[in-house]
Amino acid sequence: MIENLAAWEQRLRAARAELLRRIEGRRQRLAGLQEDTEKHYSDHLADMAQLDQDRETEVLLSEQEIRQLREIEAALERIRTRTFGLCERCGRPIEPERLDLLPYTRYCATCAQSLET
Ligand SMILES: [Zn+2]
Repeated sequence: MIENLAAWEQRLRAARAELLRRIEGRRQRLAGLQEDTEKHYSDHLADMAQLDQDRETEVLLSEQEIRQLREIEAALERIRTRTFGLCERCGRPIEPERLDLLPYTRYCATCAQSLET
């Protein structure tokens, strides 16, 4: 079992809070973009295209963030069940450097690699 579960929990909670702030900010920006679109509708086609692109980017980013948020929630759950830091596929401890970079990862480097391919 991994040491310092409390420290990891703190780190994950901080990451979750930060992510929630970002998602909320994005939600508000999206609402703003929506308003802009309605205001400028048929005004300037070029602006419209830009707005569409901005909105697409925001939606894409927020989807990524929501996925990341779920991973963080899952990692917090693994802390509760004391399986945090163990690979979900092979059960071996996840490399500390990897865990440090991606505290919410489910897999060790080897398994992550074989899952990707
Ligand atoms: Zn593994």
